[in-house]
Amino acid sequence: MDNSSEEDGTEDDYSIETRSIHAGQHPDKETGALMTPIHANSTYEQDAPGDHRGYEYSRTGNPTRTDLEENLASLESAEFGRAFSSGMASINTVLNLLESGDHVVTGTDVYGGTHRIFTQVYEQYDIEFSFVDMTDLSALEGAFQENTELLWLETPTNPLMSIVDIEGAAEIAHAEGAICAIDNTFATPYLQRPLELGADVVSHSLTKYLGGHSDVVGGALLTNDESLDERFGFYQNAVGATPGPFESFLVLRGTKTLPVRMDRHCENARAIATWLEDHSDVERVYYPGLDSHPGHEIAADQMDDFGGMLSFELDATLEEASAVVSNTDVFALAESLGGVESLIEQPAPMTHAAIPREERLEAGLTDGLIRASVGIEHVDDLIADLEGAIEDALY
Ligand SMILES: *Cc1c(COP(=O)(O)O)cnc(C)c1O
Repeated sequence: MDNSSEEDGTEDDYSIETRSIHAGQHPDKETGALMTPIHANSTYEQDAPGDHRGYEYSRTGNPTRTDLEENLASLESAEFGRAFSSGMASINTVLNLLESGDHVVTGTDVYGGTHRIFTQVYEQYDIEFSFVDMTDLSALEGAFQENTELLWLETPTNPLMSIVDIEGAAEIAHAEGAICAIDNTFATPYLQRPLELGADVVSHSLTKYLGGHSDVVGGALLTNDESLDERFGFYQNAVGATPGPFESFLVLRGTKTLPVRMDRHCENARAIATWLEDHSDVERVYYPGLDSHPGHEIAADQMDDFGGMLSFELDATLEEASAVVSNTDVFALAESLGGVESLIEQPAPMTHAAIPREERLEAGLTDGLIRASVGIEHVDDLIADLEGAIEDALY
């Protein structure tokens, strides 16, 4: 492709399938190398003091990282993008915007690491957090205070796949004078673009679907607000939680296939959710693509498809459900999500073990609950694997 920006597949009027491959990708001017080089490099030669070609030092900026940032910004239909060394580092950067005395409204079922940084890192700096049921917009509105500066959203949530109305929540945040930030890791920009729905900042763990191959840890923040982006850039450099060029390259390699991978993740998850719904040992299936899911209509409105994550509740004891997740062959028993391979886990003794049992049960996280990150293997193999594991454990 031509190197001029009108013709290189990065313009907004190209579809996301095209932009995922071409946005931020410029053939190397000297060699014509099509792929972004891994600029394994910490410093840059200057022509005269202060006279450099855009890069001085790789914590501040690195060309491989820049290409990744441009690619991710394009996918989220954002003007600005910043990459970080992990999803937690990007979340931390949003929290860096706050001052002591500020208040944050967020969901009861936010990602465990997010709950931990809120309560175990930032509360000690006199920042206050309210955890509410985000599916109830009036409860969400009621949690705002005079000093609320940030609304932190997640949808679909983990592990019950609750759906939050992004447009409605962002409107409330803005009426209350707060910033609306959203963790879009589960949906990815291929399925959901929160900035188009009114959110101010999108946060990602690139470790999951965007990287897509369970081989890299990274994070990103995307926004259309130049002053927020400048502050994120300041913290990127001042705090230093930036990804190296190898990590940036791996994520760029992942985003090229995001649309085709997500299509297969969604197709497989939908088929498995439908199969589970008819299974006699399954009490409940949590997948926003099912009509039975309480958030189905909002999800259908704000998402282009329903993703690769699902949970289901077996009519089983903690031990029996543990046996099911230990008995699968194709699904690997592991935490994390978003890679091409299928993963399975039991929230009670694994990802959500830190929550006291009573509180956990009240939140709907029963002993028999199982979460799956549905991969892109053949769906018949995945269903046969689950069927055999349930059979072996329960009969
Ligand atoms: C994994 C994850 C994070 C944290 O990202 P890391 O890359 O592991 O630091 C944040 N939010 C969600 C929803 C996640 O799944």
